[in-house]
Amino acid sequence: MSSQQPVDVVLVGGGIMSATLAAMISTLEPTWKIEILERRPALAEESSNPWNNAGTGHAALCELNYTPERPDGTIDISKAVAINEQFELSRELWSFLLTSGRLPDDAFLSPAPHMTFVRGAADVDYLRRRADALRAHPHFANLEFTTDPEVIRDWAPLLMLDRDPGEPVAATRAPEGTDVDFGALTRALVQDVADRGATVSLEQEVRGLRQRRDGTWRLRVRDLRWNASPRRRTIDARFVFIGAGGGALRLLQKSGIREAKGYGGFPISGQFLRTTNPDVVRQHQAKVYGKADVGSPPMSVPHLDTRMVDGQAALLFGPYAGWSMKFLKHGSPLDLIRTIRPGNIVPMAAVGLHNLDLLKYLIGELTASPTRRLRTLRAFMPTAHPRDWELITAGQRVQVIKKDRAKGGVLEFGTELVAAADGTVAGLLGASPGASTAVATMLDLLDRCFPDRAESWAPRLRAMMPALGGQDWDDALALHQMAEGDQVTSEH
Ligand SMILES: Cc1cc2nc3c(=O)[nH]c(=O)nc-3n(C[C@H](O)[C@H](O)[C@H](O)COP(=O)(O)OP(=O)(O)OC[C@H]3O[C@@H](n4cnc5c(N)ncnc54)[C@H](O)[C@@H]3O)c2cc1C
Repeated sequence: MSSQQPVDVVLVGGGIMSATLAAMISTLEPTWKIEILERRPALAEESSNPWNNAGTGHAALCELNYTPERPDGTIDISKAVAINEQFELSRELWSFLLTSGRLPDDAFLSPAPHMTFVRGAADVDYLRRRADALRAHPHFANLEFTTDPEVIRDWAPLLMLDRDPGEPVAATRAPEGTDVDFGALTRALVQDVADRGATVSLEQEVRGLRQRRDGTWRLRVRDLRWNASPRRRTIDARFVFIGAGGGALRLLQKSGIREAKGYGGFPISGQFLRTTNPDVVRQHQAKVYGKADVGSPPMSVPHLDTRMVDGQAALLFGPYAGWSMKFLKHGSPLDLIRTIRPGNIVPMAAVGLHNLDLLKYLIGELTASPTRRLRTLRAFMPTAHPRDWELITAGQRVQVIKKDRAKGGVLEFGTELVAAADGTVAGLLGASPGASTAVATMLDLLDRCFPDRAESWAPRLRAMMPALGGQDWDDALALHQMAEGDQVTSEH
């Protein structure tokens, strides 16, 4: 059965990306018919679930990989500035929705100072130079730096308890850092668009899509409810956003658009250690990022995080990498194989050959014993006791593999927005910087898929996000593209 009239916008997937885009479009075009289709029985059960990600509001306040060192020893802060501005856009949209009464409260956003903690003389020196470079920029003027163990103990006691007093240490702290429950935010955003007339359908899996002669898309949908009748239906749409997380690559491939050719995906799963012991949790109120080991991928940067989920505080430490062929946590072991196409075999094979370091790292992580995991945690928190910590499985990341003239294929750790030239369908691949910069990513999408509306939407967008007013919208998007396209990685 097909719907009579095409809906204006279909969003595939009920995660933070679809929720953000739905909120923006329903503000810009309140009369448009919007439909969200989610395969799971609830929203935000994949990467956007609070226990499937680290909940860091990435604003480049603590992640070392946004401030690489140049060969001459100076620190390049341009990516940090871009990420910081993108997160500001997210905060402005949330604030607009809150003050308009469209979000019930800001319980999804908790203050959690962002810290960076390093050990050893070389890293202490780097952190000092990084802090100096960042503090010269107005966005980072509040960044505090110290090498005094007493000050660090004051900021985050668990880092210093029982630590070797002879070891050089340093830390920075940004008091304005945040912890974000992206699951709660997703649900609140979707509730808002549903209240404004959007249709939200759960247990509806999009199995395929094809473009019709008139340019609209016909989606094949399977109703997964046990008593569904009929089980299959189609929905027609003028615009489709494939916000299916790990499921996006396969649907983009099925759409047949030229722009999706050559892309592949490489799944990396994650695990965290979590404690809810109130005696431990009480002693740590910060997100503390460290430095990744030499040769390990950027998403492996260890961090000890305060989390606030459903009003309950917890501490999270990790991530530890895992490996599975699934592209979604609730996916199938055949996910990887199903995305292999003649067009992406070369890039995928090339990535395998050129990323032996990553392979070595993954094997090391997969074979890591509980004792080794504890040792990594104790490098951060020397007094950690195994009885307080449980191992939990986080979301699946599907890193983007794309063609590369010189190497045949490259593995990227950023996100990639893939949009058809006619702007009728777009999908999002990759995982970083992720949920924090969803608003900037969706602005990019609006710009690319609705160019004829850019002029009429610009004043409304600026009213929602005043940070866009100070600069040209195109400048904001250029910053976003720089941060996302440049193999930018975030330390989740
Ligand atoms: C371990 C880890 C740590 C992270 N830490 C952070 C962090 O600290 N800060 C941060 O900002 N970001 C972080 N991220 C990234 C962030 O979680 C993701 O970028 C973000 O959640 C992606 O949102 P999404 O809506 O694209 O995908 P998802 O939340 O995965 O949503 C996709 C939805 O699509 C549904 N779906 C899939 N296929 C279909 C289909 N065929 N039909 C219908 N529905 C479908 C899925 O069920 C799912 O609900 C982390 C990610 C991971 C994995």
